[in-house]
Amino acid sequence: MIQIHKCHAFGCDEHIHPRFLMCAKHWAMVPKRSQTKVLKTYRKGQEIDKNPSNEYLFAAKEAIQAVQIKEAHG
Ligand SMILES: [Zn+2]
Repeated sequence: MIQIHKCHAFGCDEHIHPRFLMCAKHWAMVPKRSQTKVLKTYRKGQEIDKNPSNEYLFAAKEAIQAVQIKEAHG
């Protein structure tokens, strides 16, 4: 089942596969340390049962904020 899933970066409407957090452009703006955290805490199938861990949600939030800060500063 493929659902419409959008990039989580602020203001981005790019459609992406649900297992990814962001589109390629925004993901590339996430600091390596944050990328690693998101990938490490991702659990296979979490996008299907909609039950990601708190660790994943925290890592995802950090990554989204990092992109937002980068965009705000050009
Ligand atoms: Zn995006």
